Amino acid sequence: MLDLATSVQYVKGIGPRLAEILADKGIHTVDDLLHYLPFRYEDRLNPRSIPELRPGEMATVIAEVRRASFVPTRRLPIFEITAGQGRARLKCIWFHAGYLQDRLKPGQWLALYGKVEEDYRGGALRMVQPQFEILEESSSEKGAEDLRERKLASSLEIGRIVPIYESAGQGRLTSRWFRRIIHAALENLTPDLPEAIPAAVRQRRNLIPPREAFSKVHWPEPGQSLAELESARSPAHLRLIFEELFLIELGLELKRREHKAQPGIVFALDERVRSALKKILPFHPTAAQKKVLKEIAADMGSPSPMRRLLQGDVGSGKTIVAFEAAVVAMENGFQVALMAPTEILAQQHYFWARRTLEPAGYRIVLLTGSLEEDRKREIRRHIAQGNAQLVIGTHALIEQSVEFFDLGLVIVDEQHRFGVLQRFKLMKKSREPGSPDAPLREPDVLVMTATPIPRTLALTLYGDLDLSIIDAMPPGRTPIVTRRVRDERSDQVWDFVRKQVAAGHQTYVVYPAIEENEENDLKAAMKMFQELSRRVFPDLRVGLLHGRLDAEQKELAMGRFQRGELDILVSTTVIEVGVDVPNANLMVIEHAERFGLAQLHQLRGRIGRGATKSYCVLMTSGKVSEEGERRLDAMVKMNDGFRIAELDLELRGPGEFFGTRQAGLPSFRVATLIRDARLLEAAKQEAAAVLAGPNEEISQAEIDRALRYMRARWQRTYGLVEVA
Ligand code: ADP
Ligand code: MG
Repeated sequence: MLDLATSVQYVKGIGPRLAEILADKGIHTVDDLLHYLPFRYEDRLNPRSIPELRPGEMATVIAEVRRASFVPTRRLPIFEITAGQGRARLKCIWFHAGYLQDRLKPGQWLALYGKVEEDYRGGALRMVQPQFEILEESSSEKGAEDLRERKLASSLEIGRIVPIYESAGQGRLTSRWFRRIIHAALENLTPDLPEAIPAAVRQRRNLIPPREAFSKVHWPEPGQSLAELESARSPAHLRLIFEELFLIELGLELKRREHKAQPGIVFALDERVRSALKKILPFHPTAAQKKVLKEIAADMGSPSPMRRLLQGDVGSGKTIVAFEAAVVAMENGFQVALMAPTEILAQQHYFWARRTLEPAGYRIVLLTGSLEEDRKREIRRHIAQGNAQLVIGTHALIEQSVEFFDLGLVIVDEQHRFGVLQRFKLMKKSREPGSPDAPLREPDVLVMTATPIPRTLALTLYGDLDLSIIDAMPPGRTPIVTRRVRDERSDQVWDFVRKQVAAGHQTYVVYPAIEENEENDLKAAMKMFQELSRRVFPDLRVGLLHGRLDAEQKELAMGRFQRGELDILVSTTVIEVGVDVPNANLMVIEHAERFGLAQLHQLRGRIGRGATKSYCVLMTSGKVSEEGERRLDAMVKMNDGFRIAELDLELRGPGEFFGTRQAGLPSFRVATLIRDARLLEAAKQEAAAVLAGPNEEISQAEIDRALRYMRARWQRTYGLVEVA
């Protein structure tokens, strides 16, 4: 008997060598194998006889290869077979398929699946590019024994809805192989599979038992709708997907509760604090900003530690909201850490913090890697003694080397650069002032994202955080006009830059690379800086900014641009996050086809920050891929970051969306974020309900069991993420 934890090598037909190939696919246990779902199904319940085929229909035909030939014409090489059933014939052709010469031979029996068409020579029928599967290598030489075997094999191949799997090991492990193996695994699977989901939840969500789900997802029953199977909406699919999402959400919800249960700081929000808040505001906050600030303030005023994610499109005005939260903490006598992903951004926050907060008397320090050791040591001492109230720096720096005197609030900006795993490492705890024996208190944490994250993704990635969204832009913004231009027309673009500069505005010119390199012919920032400053705009003030400059040079360039001492800033994507120069109203992105969608949106978010009309010019060079076309097209048509993020997620898939796996994104086995958004919400609700128990619906034993499975699953699937 196999159970779910058994290694796949003990499944009949696998063994250690094939188990290694499977391991490459992430399949280690029987459980993994059973979660290797078909990506398609074929209705071979009723394989058709050739004479009854009609043009235009999709059909499965089981037939013998009678003739196979390759016609290697230069323009359109064709591989052609004639398949036969008795005297009936069906022609099948594949284009550019010379490789089939070695695979398809007379005497073989095939299952062919495809669209039936009229052969152009009239009368006869054919299939063009059908899917096929070799059922038997040869029918002629075999005796009666083989015939029996054939019948046995055919029971998995014919006369049912047949699952089609992605092959593995460079085609060595075929779909057909998977069918046999998974069939064998199911045959020998222990009859009583454990049930992770409490009965009340199963009932509410109409979930079938796990064993039934496994059997039916791989071997659907004859009545099962093919459409449901293919869209992963069959009861079997729903059960497996729900379970996966439920266990993820259970882990996140548990984490959330554990954090909430710890002692936190109760920040006072009295008249004095309120008037301090008003004093720093450089403008009237929007209704959207007020709403999120209220949510944040409520968290800060409550005894459990805040764990909140603040979302808002680029330019929606998150910074001032963060500063307001900082003021609440500082007025209560606590220190605040504000962490940014890059030095440039830390510097910029420092710049704004000094403008808005220093006049009100708050003591602010900037801690960056480029400071001299002595200076750093001195700043750290100020922090440790509690003189510095607001500490701004890069994530790495603050997390690694800073002792706070009394840290009350941590603000993490542009979270998507960090990843979830790091999220909770930093937080140093503090005690009630003057009571060394009091329990350690958790600082509040506010995470801000620059990339608007689709809600579904936020629920998984940040399911352990509460969510606040700034859903409107500050007043007076005009939508950015975005255009595509081929770089042959760059002269016109440079003319336009000149015109904008003449009108008193500033321009960014962005490149994907810093230096030219021999393998590609990308225009790069350094070279183009020379070109633009010497040849194209000798009369204008052009600056250069890229990641390899040292921090001082970066600050210099950025500062000059910020103060209006540069007309044009030639840059790489180092300006992608957070940089705020409202007078810049034009951005030219060269090789725009090279950038990801989210990245383009982030870059474009640097302009359109003032009241003047802004322009984004996407220059492309050479041939643009189909996906590139879709990205550029989306940029021209859309301004809404949430919609762009949804599309980006769709185009790239969740792993890529956040850059790396290390970003902490849970990887799914059977669920997908966009398709299963509704199930995800349901799973989240149920996870919360389960942890709220026990009650008359859900017993403690059920809760314990669910938690046990959740931990096992998290352990295996996400390894690093520890759930207490
Ligand atoms: P992001 O959400 O991308 O971090 P910022 O906080 O940098 O956005 O704000 C973008 C720009 O909008 C800044 O120049 C900021 O001063 C301005 N801004 C923010 N809120 C308001 C408001 N309520 N009224 C006017 N301008 C605002
Ligand atoms: Mg920002």
